[in-house]
Amino acid sequence: MTDPEGEDLVVTLGARRLPVRLVRSNRKTLGIAVHPDTRVVATAPHGAEHDAIERAIAGRGGWVLDAIREFERFLPRTPPRRYVSGETHLYLGREHRLVVDPDGLGVRRDGNRLVVGGRRDDTDGVRRALNRWYGVEARRVLSDRLDAGLALFAAQGVMRPALTVRRMEKRWGSMSNDGRRMLLNTRLVEAGTDEIDYVVAHELAHILEPHHGPAFHALLERKMPDWRARKDRLERRFA
Ligand SMILES: [Zn+2]
Repeated sequence: MTDPEGEDLVVTLGARRLPVRLVRSNRKTLGIAVHPDTRVVATAPHGAEHDAIERAIAGRGGWVLDAIREFERFLPRTPPRRYVSGETHLYLGREHRLVVDPDGLGVRRDGNRLVVGGRRDDTDGVRRALNRWYGVEARRVLSDRLDAGLALFAAQGVMRPALTVRRMEKRWGSMSNDGRRMLLNTRLVEAGTDEIDYVVAHELAHILEPHHGPAFHALLERKMPDWRARKDRLERRFA
């Protein structure tokens, strides 16, 4: 949780000038967290001086930069889109050819084609119609994959979290601290089912293990032994 009253620092790490959000707390030592969207948040005791805080962050600079790089590798990228016939768009890991049909209505999937009703010169309208369709599909597909993923965690009695599906620039998913709300990126519906299942399993594992420590990875390994290969495929697909 980020304190809105926090301050912004800039810490120099080698050649990089790193913005750091500083939050004060009652803790006695400095805490540093790198979030999946690559924000760095430092939590410091009320009395700690800026100099000492910046030195402490710089002292752990290697770890901070490694964590940022690891998350950067995993961020979804958006290829430039023109929303014209012939362009390909991904759905469940397969390329689909966009067809703009002036006589059509709405969006329908026909084999490996996505047929969008609309004027060919109205690329904005085509984009909006397609985004709406992806939103509806994502909610349906991701809700199904969440049900499938829950089966992996049935032995632990994991309850189904409330699911929110939203377009996000910087992350595939997240789990609330209380383990009751899962957020997934609409764009996951472009990935293959096994890649979606990896993200769902990752977020469900956070209900039992909130942090990315050894216990988290051991749990994920037990539930989904090939999770690394799936994660690699997801990263390569959007690289
Ligand atoms: Zn995670």
